[in-house]
Amino acid sequence: MNISILGLGIIGSAWAENLITDGHRVRCWNRSPKEFPNFHASIREAVEGAQFIIVVVADPPAVQSVLEQILPVLGSGQLVIQSSTISAKWTLRFADMVQKTGAAFLEAPFTGSKPAAEARQTVFYLGGDPEVVALARPVLDPLSGTIQHIGPLGSASSLKLAMNLNLANMAQALAESLTLSRAAGIPDDIYFAALSRNAGRSGLSDLKEPKFRQHDYSPQFSLKHMGKDLRLAIETAMDLGLSLDQTARLVATYSKGTAAGWQEDDFVGLIRALSI
Ligand code: NAP
Repeated sequence: MNISILGLGIIGSAWAENLITDGHRVRCWNRSPKEFPNFHASIREAVEGAQFIIVVVADPPAVQSVLEQILPVLGSGQLVIQSSTISAKWTLRFADMVQKTGAAFLEAPFTGSKPAAEARQTVFYLGGDPEVVALARPVLDPLSGTIQHIGPLGSASSLKLAMNLNLANMAQALAESLTLSRAAGIPDDIYFAALSRNAGRSGLSDLKEPKFRQHDYSPQFSLKHMGKDLRLAIETAMDLGLSLDQTARLVATYSKGTAAGWQEDDFVGLIRALSI
């Protein structure tokens, strides 16, 4: 397959490495030039003639910037797979821009952070027509543990934001619980042994336990992206006439983490805000 990967951050670089290992013709591009296999400094050269164009960048303005640069070279026979976490509103806007060129568009937000991407265990949530989903499967299957077709365009972005809202609130509850336990003098070994037999144990607590124990805040999923997802979730909720009070409060806590300079750290690094 002839694949273009736009965005070589934590996830894009892991996917690109796996697709290169599989022997596909992969062209890679990143806004800031990078030492990376098959790197193209020109985004248009990276995209021209590619069957599949995977976009995995930070946020809606980043996706917009990427699309505006590649629209002149997009056309029929190409499929843009937009995997950055954005909202349904942005997804519909971007799909329209791409489809006007004759290219197809699929939204493919995902879950599973760096270790999952490296281990080909990314879970994709797809939004779009079934025929477009079928087109994308050959390129997504080798990156993925599970692919779930959520519904029409926009639905997968809303689901992704709903999932992250839950994870962020769970992580914050875990951080507060652990901080209380530590302040009461309970060693982490005892805390996590108790958690392992408690209904509060979760996939998230299993994944993040080593990071909490070792005070290791190197990013699997960054605080800045989780904060962005919470803001997008709040905007989506407002459009739907909902108010998410607990999540709105958490947005303020994320702003505190950003002000402290932890935006590039893993989102569980926010535990430090409890001792400020
Ligand atoms: P990352 O490591 O922070 O990388 C962000 C990428 O976006 C970089 O390639 C960056 O380029 C690029 N970028 C930022 N602003 C840009 C702009 N204006 N124009 C073009 N490119 C721009 O992010 P990541 O962790 O790989 O995540 C990528 C996306 O996947 C995000 O939407 C995130 O929410 C989502 N996601 C991530 C995870 C995870 O666990 N990491 C899980 C699920 C979903 P530069 O190098 O030039 O800055």
